[in-house]
Amino acid sequence: MHWWRRTWPGHTRPGYPPVALVVTGAGPVALANRQQAVADLSADCWRGRWCREVRDYNEDGWREYDDAVPIVATTLELLAEHGPLGPIWWRFGRSGRYSLVEALENPNNRAAYDLRQAAREDEEHQAHQELMDSLVCIDCGDVPEEETTWEYGRQGQVEWTRRPGGRCWTCHHDRNERLEREAEEQLEAARTANAALRPCWTCRGSIGGKEGSKLELREKARPDRLECPECVQARAAKDLGPLMLPAPTKRELVAALVSTPDDPWWEERVLHAKLYPVRDRRV
Ligand SMILES: [Zn+2]
Ligand SMILES: [Zn+2]
Repeated sequence: MHWWRRTWPGHTRPGYPPVALVVTGAGPVALANRQQAVADLSADCWRGRWCREVRDYNEDGWREYDDAVPIVATTLELLAEHGPLGPIWWRFGRSGRYSLVEALENPNNRAAYDLRQAAREDEEHQAHQELMDSLVCIDCGDVPEEETTWEYGRQGQVEWTRRPGGRCWTCHHDRNERLEREAEEQLEAARTANAALRPCWTCRGSIGGKEGSKLELREKARPDRLECPECVQARAAKDLGPLMLPAPTKRELVAALVSTPDDPWWEERVLHAKLYPVRDRRV
């Protein structure tokens, strides 16, 4: 404890007893320069220690005045005009002139820093919350609290990321499962329907194609389809041109007048005979 604190125990401000400097005997500019010169030369005494909070990750800080001498200065003319309690005191290290009590305050202290830091943290928190709000799940309304742009996937492979207008991982996962299930059910229904239709003209397999093949139809085949997808592809690869069914014979045509022929391709054969007359067909 400084010896003078025992002598004047009422002192509550940090640092040594303040020093008041009153200048006179020159013009206003010269006096201002003199005060400034004294301030510059004595800066080490009154400036205080610059402190920072490393864990706050900012360039801001505050000053500790425990080992500093607060210095206030004025001119004799101002003192005579306003008296010692008037707003005449310049505190070294601050700008403007204050009353004596105000001039001895230390506005750039830890408390002021804490207020600025709290405001910064509020702002960061709000920005973070706005970002989280933008990532609300469109299915369940879940707003994430912490990490939001998490990448999910097998072996580091990115399959899904939470994004604005997207879903939380659970809903994303549930939806994918549902879509897969629906696709599977649709395929099963298509398989059943296609198995009941007339077969592929060329390979006599299901008109929907081989089960599990890449080309397998995922919906019911259109009624005019004649070949399974594999045979269609093979025909295209070999550049064979459109499939032409054998034209109905005269005998078949006569029989058809009496009763509908027991031939699942009959109608297409009649149609093909019209579209591709026999004389035009390649041999
Ligand atoms: Zn969700
Ligand atoms: Zn086929």
